[in-house]
Amino acid sequence: MMTADALRTRFLQFFAQRGHQVVPSSSLIPHNDPTLLFTNAGMNQFKDCFLGEEKRDYVRAATSQKCVRAGGKHNDLENVGRTARHHTFFEMLGNFSFGDYFKKEAIAFAWEFLTQDLKLDKSRLYVTVFTDDDEAADIWHQQEGVPRERIFRFGEKDNFWSMGDTGPCGPCSEIFWDNGPGVGCGRPDCAVGCDCDRYMEIWNNVFMQFNRSADGTLAPLPKPAVDTGMGLERICTVMQGVTSNYDTDLLRRIIGHIEQLSGKGYGADGDNDVSMRVIADHSRATAFLIADGVLPSNEGRGYVLRRIMRRAMRHARMLGFDTPVLYQTATFVLETMAGAYPEEAKRAAFVAKVVKNEEERFIQTLGNGLRILQEEIDRLRHQGATTIPGAVVFKLYDTFGFPVDLTADIVEKDGFALDEAGFDRCMAQQRQQAREHWKGSGEEGIASIYKQLAEQGLQVEFTGYDKTADFGTIV
Ligand code: ATP
Ligand code: MG
Ligand code: MG
Ligand code: MG
Repeated sequence: MMTADALRTRFLQFFAQRGHQVVPSSSLIPHNDPTLLFTNAGMNQFKDCFLGEEKRDYVRAATSQKCVRAGGKHNDLENVGRTARHHTFFEMLGNFSFGDYFKKEAIAFAWEFLTQDLKLDKSRLYVTVFTDDDEAADIWHQQEGVPRERIFRFGEKDNFWSMGDTGPCGPCSEIFWDNGPGVGCGRPDCAVGCDCDRYMEIWNNVFMQFNRSADGTLAPLPKPAVDTGMGLERICTVMQGVTSNYDTDLLRRIIGHIEQLSGKGYGADGDNDVSMRVIADHSRATAFLIADGVLPSNEGRGYVLRRIMRRAMRHARMLGFDTPVLYQTATFVLETMAGAYPEEAKRAAFVAKVVKNEEERFIQTLGNGLRILQEEIDRLRHQGATTIPGAVVFKLYDTFGFPVDLTADIVEKDGFALDEAGFDRCMAQQRQQAREHWKGSGEEGIASIYKQLAEQGLQVEFTGYDKTADFGTIV
């Protein structure tokens, strides 16, 4: 079996042998870019190279990039646990050309890597191109011999890639793997483009040609460029002969750790399995975000992290844990990934302290909040209602620390929705009152705990340009 570590190395070597500079992953906090919440793709750190604003001493690069897609433009938080292929944290393998090669070579490299180096079965691969990109379709067919009926055309949503609302963008061409008829929706018309897990997108080749400005206009880049991204977890799924990312070595060993801690087996119970997957996924995001300097807080990046952590903590409770456990799984993540991420692994003790502190505090209120929510559900059900009032959602948020998406997630299985407009009104009202009698916020107490921790255990490096990170990068 090819491990994730071996695959990551193999990819980087393949491109190094073809003139690419291997560049380390950048931080999950996108430095110098206030338009991005978290690093969401390999190209982020090269944005200025694509725009022609930065010159490096290489024109070809390859990376394995840490990414988080929770909040912001590419938000996959709601997909986690529901699909076999989406994570909040994942690693993106990528090769890049800054005005050097373009479509022909990019397609040739991708196909050679998959079908010759990894020896994937061509009869399970499909490709897509942007609606009118005949050039790319012809390259796939004439140069690589891919039959026309295996080449699909899709529009803007799938085949025109943008980093965010502004920035480099362009038409793209994607490669899909057929997980087989036993996987996914099972509908007779299931095909590439279906949202289910059967036809899994593995690799996106973006032909960067434009810069989108704030008013939406597209200006051509100084030179056409290439940006590609392949999810390491997904190509592991293919290479390890499984059909879910959670069955690859990367995720399965975390689930194994959760099995040990909980005494419950994976695969024995559907609800427990979902909880184990959510905890495994969120432990990775938690570990890497904190290692990169994000701390749980009530706004911005810190709040996205807090939401991820609290969701995992609730699932831990569903699995039967009544004492902190996420700090252990997060530490396990960093320890088992130390080979590829030695710097992050050095921060494992700090990560554990932050997570444990957050978990101890939340466990105190989680049980009470859940009880109140259950009473509310019972009461509403009696009345035949299906909407949780905004005031209840707000009380859970304000008094019990329940992020709104956590409450939504909890009540969904009972067929309930939230009165979000009502929640917003409560929130606005509270802000107004807070402005009228401000006495200092409780949050400062927490912030000072983290500050003390940071002072005891770590040096904190000022990162200057980053406007929203609380304490900069922890070194
Ligand atoms: P999908 O359609 O499956 O959500 P995407 O089109 O949003 O993927 P891209 O932005 O094209 O993804 O990113 C390039 C590659 O990164 C994808 O082809 C996939 O292999 C991987 N990838 C994207 N999102 C995730 C995720 N949430 N978890 C794991 N891998 C991902
Ligand atoms: Mg997506
Ligand atoms: Mg896609
Ligand atoms: Mg894509």
